[in-house]
Amino acid sequence: MSPNAESTAFRSALEVIRAVEPRVADAIGAELADQRESLKLIASENYASPATLLAMGNWFSDKYAEGTIGRRFYAGCQNVDTVEALAAEHAKELFGAAHAYVQPHSGIDANLVAFWAILADRVESPALKKAQVRQVNELTEADWFALRRELGNQRMLGMSLDAGGHLTHGFRPNISGKMFDQRSYGTDPATGLVDYDQVRAAAREFKPLILVAGYSAYPRKVNFRIMREIADEVGATFMVDMAHFAGLVAGKVFTGDFDPVPHAHIVTTTTHKSLRGPRGGMVLCGPELADQVDRGCPMVLGGPLPHVMAAKAVALAEARRPDFADYASRIVDNAQALADGLLRRGAKLVTGGTDNHLVLIDVSGYGLTGRQAEQALLDSGIVTNRNAVPQDPNGAWYTSGIRIGTPALTTRGLGTAEMDATAELIHTVLSQTRPGESKAKYVLDPALADQVNKQASDLLAGFPLYPAVDLG
Ligand code: PLP
Repeated sequence: MSPNAESTAFRSALEVIRAVEPRVADAIGAELADQRESLKLIASENYASPATLLAMGNWFSDKYAEGTIGRRFYAGCQNVDTVEALAAEHAKELFGAAHAYVQPHSGIDANLVAFWAILADRVESPALKKAQVRQVNELTEADWFALRRELGNQRMLGMSLDAGGHLTHGFRPNISGKMFDQRSYGTDPATGLVDYDQVRAAAREFKPLILVAGYSAYPRKVNFRIMREIADEVGATFMVDMAHFAGLVAGKVFTGDFDPVPHAHIVTTTTHKSLRGPRGGMVLCGPELADQVDRGCPMVLGGPLPHVMAAKAVALAEARRPDFADYASRIVDNAQALADGLLRRGAKLVTGGTDNHLVLIDVSGYGLTGRQAEQALLDSGIVTNRNAVPQDPNGAWYTSGIRIGTPALTTRGLGTAEMDATAELIHTVLSQTRPGESKAKYVLDPALADQVNKQASDLLAGFPLYPAVDLG
């Protein structure tokens, strides 16, 4: 590759865009500048490689390719077939999965594909067999209504939202909460850790069709071998949503009992968080569920996004390189250094630390709500997001927690020394912020915010983001 290839590619792209709508070109340039300047600690974000980003801006965006390879509803899909097969192949090799479905447009879509695959396998197919028909439209009215009642009355057991579970695991504001009768398991109030005995007791009593593991804000590993035993004991399908920690699985930081792929019947993920790919989703499974999963389009998805599948293939190829394993282990080293730095300075952390990519600070220890803390940190150039803590008295909007994660700063090259410096900046801001007259208001000396902003920029200056990209 020529030394200026990345700069030339992005500069030329912006020039072409600017000729049509300059404000879009300006916004794209401003986004890069903002990302370069901010200390990004959002646990679900990362920086995709230039190759991944460039794989998305091309003619694949124009192509319809409903169906799957060899069973398309549109003609002329030979090049889409190539990139879809490459992405699936890389995903299977990387994660050791028998089958990979790379079409989901996002994590929420991947979960919907998985839910419908399980419902079709466990409820719809037996109903069709019983009625001695092959398709739902061959059912009698009475059988169809009976099947619809049964499909809508299935049970799901997943991690509660305040313990770190995700909205798509059966919660009311999401379609999954309307599709399933949901119950959740929490964490041990004393340790903040998943209590497998409690999960087992809940599963025995509730008898879910689907047992879901996976999280957005739980700072520890989950033992998937034990979860699978629980699922088997009650006859549930075991699904793991590894959206947050897929990069740690890919990088072989989570192995054995902590690798979901050998233990789960079906695994879903996003591709843009710790995995560092384009925004999107993916489903992995064994041969038993493969056919149902491949019906994701048209069951719950429209046409796939071939440009994003091309970018998935690029990012998954990157994740198969040896340096990705090094990256994944540095993510965890950095999260642990950040946690240690915060603990040493007196912060209260949910579970007392971390063994993955994220840390959850209970900011009630600073007398603040999550909302106040999030804004005060943002004023100081530190980008985080507020998050509920277990049994949160401030609910899901104001919250009592700040979730921080290290995948993005680790991509940038920051290491454990810089994490300690980051802990100092976070602690300085939180300990100097005073709560205001409402749960959203706060008082922070603007001079202190400016000083921390400057320290954050100094910290980042040694770790340029996209160093080979110069927009001029
Ligand atoms: N699953 C988990 C565990 C997540 O954390 C998220 C996103 O935050 C999703 C699914 C949904 O992903 P997306 O935003 O791509 O739909």
